[in-house]
Amino acid sequence: MDVITRNYGKKLMSLLAIALVTLAFLTTPVLAAKPPQWSYGGTANPTQWGKLSDDFTMCEFGKDQSPINIKNPIEDVPAKISFDYHPTPLSIINNGHTIQVNYAQGSTVSISGEKYSLLQFHFHTPSEHEINDRASAMELHLVHRNEAGKLAVVGVMLNEGKSNPLIAEIWKQIPNIGETQTISDRLINAENLLPSNKAYYSYSGSLTTPPCSEGVSWNIFVEPITVSEEQIATFTKIYQVDARPLQPINNRVVLLHH
Ligand SMILES: [Zn+2]
Repeated sequence: MDVITRNYGKKLMSLLAIALVTLAFLTTPVLAAKPPQWSYGGTANPTQWGKLSDDFTMCEFGKDQSPINIKNPIEDVPAKISFDYHPTPLSIINNGHTIQVNYAQGSTVSISGEKYSLLQFHFHTPSEHEINDRASAMELHLVHRNEAGKLAVVGVMLNEGKSNPLIAEIWKQIPNIGETQTISDRLINAENLLPSNKAYYSYSGSLTTPPCSEGVSWNIFVEPITVSEEQIATFTKIYQVDARPLQPINNRVVLLHH
């Protein structure tokens, strides 16, 4: 073995060692960084969420959790909610927990003078919130965030009745679990998912999925919209149940804005 070959062999060995060490370092954090799986049934069901990760402890110990049963609201000042929604290219994600539609920048809601940008909307079945002990077939969540990072969710109850044309359009394009379907030339407007009566309940709560972070402004319309039995069935064929059970209201009050 001449010098060159020996050096080459040494080099190869040290490269291999570096590669192995790198691989070990790379694999471990990748595995560790994988977020824990949570679900609505089985061993990772909502009663276990708080134990699945140190990041999910609010799911177990939070005192301002969502959803809640909306009851005995306090009549507050008239509704101060206004929408400035614009059309967005249809982009649907089937994320393994729900069907979600992502929204392009530029659509906003103003709640009590605070402006929030619409990020996405998604669906739950049955409804997560109840109103006077009554659940709806489904619930729509329009998720917004302001510049300070505060989240505001607008909730719409979906009862069985007439079919909703926009939901019909979305349902036609649902991709497989884990996939995204984007149809750039198909514009949709979330305005078509809002009831005509803008009276709403408001309270302070949390995300209804892990990590169950609190400080979320909840705004739920009194008036439901309708979806057909067939539209409900299309969703429940993919997600039979994707609703967190009711959480205690504790010291919170629900306001009603007419
Ligand atoms: Zn939701």
